[in-house]
Amino acid sequence: MSGNKTFIVEHLDPELEQWSALEYKCIARETAATGSSFYLTSVPRELQLPESLKAVSELNVEHRGIEEIYADKKDRVCLLDPAATKELSPEDGDNFDIFLFGGILGDDPPRDRTSELRKKGYQGRRLGPVQMTTDTAVRTTRIVVQDRIALEDIKYVDNPEIKVDEHESTEMPFRYVLDKNGKPIFPDGMVDLIKKDSERGIDDLL
Ligand code: SAM
Repeated sequence: MSGNKTFIVEHLDPELEQWSALEYKCIARETAATGSSFYLTSVPRELQLPESLKAVSELNVEHRGIEEIYADKKDRVCLLDPAATKELSPEDGDNFDIFLFGGILGDDPPRDRTSELRKKGYQGRRLGPVQMTTDTAVRTTRIVVQDRIALEDIKYVDNPEIKVDEHESTEMPFRYVLDKNGKPIFPDGMVDLIKKDSERGIDDLL
């Protein structure tokens, strides 16, 4: 797999939660391994990046936003947008150099915060009808535009369950890409974080 594309996550939340930190680390490492680059943009100057992210050499942090950085290349930017009318296709690897994603935690039901980027007027493409986590959306885009595999030929699972202990499991309301063993791909550390969060949730009820 090789590429020379630029993948941008425009950070849209005031905070940078642990969940996002794990996703951004995963995107940075995987994207660099394919020869492309990853930028986390619009990071407020006052935001303290978690130590775990500061240590990621493949991560490029930008305080400026997408509009400022690529003011002269707007037509080469593709916004991955769950509300777009056109699906992403392998040919979009020729049409665009820069792929833009909303740095938003997934929510159920989705609140359409990608609209904050849509109103800037970029061309949009959808990755199918189901909400993905941000790292899954970047992974899927790389597969389509770099490996030139059509969206419908990628193997996914929707709403996988994570076993948090012997009795409980928690359903993740998103679409994930499957690895070669047929298991959903989660960022390193994510399953443990989900388990920890669900224990905390149960403790809060007691
Ligand atoms: N709940 C959401 C919202 O408020 O728009 C979706 C957030 S999703 C976790 C983060 C980003 O991944 C989106 O901003 C978008 O760039 C990308 N994304 C996720 N699922 C997608 C899909 N089915 N089609 C296109 N882009 C998608």
